[in-house]
Amino acid sequence: MEVRAKKFLGQHFLKDENIARQIAESLTGITPHVLEIGPGMGVLTKYLYNMPDIDFHAIEIDRESVSYLHQHYPSLHVIEGDFLALDPGTLFSEPFAVIGNFPYNISSQILFKVFDNRSRVPELVGMFQKEVAERVAAKPGSKTYGILSVLLSAYYDIEYLFTVPEHVFNPPPKVKSAVIRLRRNSITTLECDENLFVKVVKIGFNQRRKTLRNALRQLNMPLDNVPDRLLSLRAEQLSVDDFITLTKSLS
Ligand code: SAH
Repeated sequence: MEVRAKKFLGQHFLKDENIARQIAESLTGITPHVLEIGPGMGVLTKYLYNMPDIDFHAIEIDRESVSYLHQHYPSLHVIEGDFLALDPGTLFSEPFAVIGNFPYNISSQILFKVFDNRSRVPELVGMFQKEVAERVAAKPGSKTYGILSVLLSAYYDIEYLFTVPEHVFNPPPKVKSAVIRLRRNSITTLECDENLFVKVVKIGFNQRRKTLRNALRQLNMPLDNVPDRLLSLRAEQLSVDDFITLTKSLS
């Protein structure tokens, strides 16, 4: 019996085998340790868990999907649980890649969690709502450029791989989807206080119509050493390097 799609879990099952294989094959193999989030009925999973030398785990919150997977893929390691509550250290002692046709209701939270674990996640391949994928891959100056674009591109090379239409899902979502790939760049630590960097980016974009001079007031830190050029801009006009320069000049 197939799993009945539950809206509150963001379940839209992919029906197109070619797209499923393309997503699975977008992993570059940089690490043999792989975590799939939300396997559902296993459309991606079956292309992954039998790959040679793969150390594969999946986490799925939906009990009905988990029992479907146990029945159809008895040798698969699937945990029943919430990825957002997972301590990845309990599964992997080595760096691991993250893959999935993700539950769209928690897209940003998944991306923030990957960001927090950036030293352990060298690669992510995943399907998101097209709009989220575009935001992640956005460049400075564009309307969709935002917190996740800056934070993630500070540490990852981001590629927009391909767009996926609504009708290849059951049930079809209301929006198009897209697959992106994030690969960790060579930067281990930014040349600035990284916690302050995150704070500056968030404050800047949370008041994205204000210039940084005004937005950053709430930091309560002296802005005297910050180049005027940066203070007179809005967050969406700054590159990652600009944000690093700005953060350095604050501390
Ligand atoms: N990968 C499957 C299912 C995609 S739908 C496919 O492509 O067909 C998203 C899946 O994520 C669902 O199976 C849903 O139950 C699961 N899910 C939702 N929230 C989750 C969470 N917090 N942690 C783990 N899995 C979750």
